[in-house]
Amino acid sequence: MLSVSDALSQVLAKFKPLDAEWVPTAYAAGRVLAQTVHASLDLPPFPNSSMDGYAVRAADVRAASPATPALLTVIGDIPAGAVPSMVVRPGCAARIMTGAHMPQGADAVVPVEATDDSRSTGGGPLPVAVRVLKAVEAGEYVRHQGEDMKAGAEILRPGMILRPYDLGMLAATGCSKVSVVRRPRVAILSTGDELVPVETEPGPGQIRDTNGYTLGALVRKYGGEALMLGAAPDQADAVDRMLGEALEQAADVIVSSAGVSVGAYDVVKAAVERRGVLSFWKVRMRPGKPIVFGRLGAVPFFGLPGNPVSAVVGFEIFVRPALLKLSGRTRIDKPVVSVLLTETWHSDGRESYLRAVVSREDGRYVARSAGGQGSNMISALSAANALLILPEGVTEAPAGSTLRAWMLDWPEEVF
Ligand code: AMP
Ligand code: MG
Repeated sequence: MLSVSDALSQVLAKFKPLDAEWVPTAYAAGRVLAQTVHASLDLPPFPNSSMDGYAVRAADVRAASPATPALLTVIGDIPAGAVPSMVVRPGCAARIMTGAHMPQGADAVVPVEATDDSRSTGGGPLPVAVRVLKAVEAGEYVRHQGEDMKAGAEILRPGMILRPYDLGMLAATGCSKVSVVRRPRVAILSTGDELVPVETEPGPGQIRDTNGYTLGALVRKYGGEALMLGAAPDQADAVDRMLGEALEQAADVIVSSAGVSVGAYDVVKAAVERRGVLSFWKVRMRPGKPIVFGRLGAVPFFGLPGNPVSAVVGFEIFVRPALLKLSGRTRIDKPVVSVLLTETWHSDGRESYLRAVVSREDGRYVARSAGGQGSNMISALSAANALLILPEGVTEAPAGSTLRAWMLDWPEEVF
């Protein structure tokens, strides 16, 4: 039987980033960039003022102070968006607003607060002359053309996850569309004669199909598009039809749950083998030992176990990194912390993923059980914020020792 890490290497070897698509930049946050972006222009595109004030020649105000103000003739007004036509000659100044184009001749801006002009702040009339009460250096309060970025500079590279902060930069350089890696289309199907849809009152011996809900949401959490196919009964023909539907819908990956164990009605493996091949069907892990990986034609297939906790653990270990790789991500490791145990944990020597509540106490992360550890117990899974990892070969982790834990709710840069 394969170890988790050997199985994961086999899985990841079969995935590479999907092709690219163009999306509106406004909706591209969280997507993986598939192109190099170059600045199409200098930013700022022209020298402009960083303050509301007066554009001056620094030499004219070198000796200015409240006691010895420099008196300058005001020759014009430059609101933001205007193209100034005046030339600021010695002894002159032009009123200028933040973001407005610097006029010729001026090499600095005096903020309005450093002048005797108290009216301009409220949109007052242009004064005839202004007294400057403070010296400024040449270049002061001027934003220089290209100081932020130069035309032609490489500003974003393929493989980056676009963040809200990047979108403004793309907008500034005129990119209203960007090329990003396509989202994986993931078909989700449940199998089992006992399953009824969530809206249906279960009859005797029946339960609701809960895995579909969890797995669909996990697909979306990790940036995929979930194609919800519903549940098939435990018959190879019915499962085969549903797999056919997944292929018709152009799924990039197919994920099923249940029917992969050694029970008399576990028909999923046989159904997969009709259309493709199985790479493995058991992994030394707990929960979730019966877990299938294979392909239908060229489409990778994951057959997760039916127990809801096993299905989730199998998804987090194998499907999640596969989806991130398909999405063009380079960092695919799950956020992990070292946690202090307050109780003793047991397992059977298989690599184990136990449901825990991790909290921060006295500067460290401390783990407690989230409840019953049965692989059917969805309440403990819902209460958990971490999966505590008992490594292979470890049967007891005593209170006071530390283990690694996967944090379920930590952000993973996915929207
Ligand atoms: P199996 O892997 O088919 O042996 O199923 C293992 C357990 O998981 C059984 O108790 C099933 O009833 C349960 N199970 C299977 N599929 C689902 C599902 N979609 N939602 C909830 N429980 C399920
Ligand atoms: Mg079953």
